[in-house]
Amino acid sequence: MGREHRNPREKPVTATKICPVCGYKGKAVLKLKGHVSVEIILWILLIIPGFIYSMWRHSSPRYGCPRCISDTMIPICTPEGQKITKEFEHVNINILNQL
Ligand SMILES: [Zn+2]
Repeated sequence: MGREHRNPREKPVTATKICPVCGYKGKAVLKLKGHVSVEIILWILLIIPGFIYSMWRHSSPRYGCPRCISDTMIPICTPEGQKITKEFEHVNINILNQL
């Protein structure tokens, strides 16, 4: 039981990314479609709808911003990521000057 189980289909998400919506910088988190409470209710009511809903939620998980609802985070090593980083740095400087 010493070995760690890793899903070979899992993509590495170690790269620092930036959210184009709120400017959050960091690692993207795995986001599932729908809501966990709906999943639980369906499981309680009937096993089959719960199973189907679980299958649907887990069918295409996406990595997204942990701060907002955006499921698009751009790696900051890319030209697009650099552009967004600069835009949000400018915004942050303006906020600090106003304090
Ligand atoms: Zn965000």
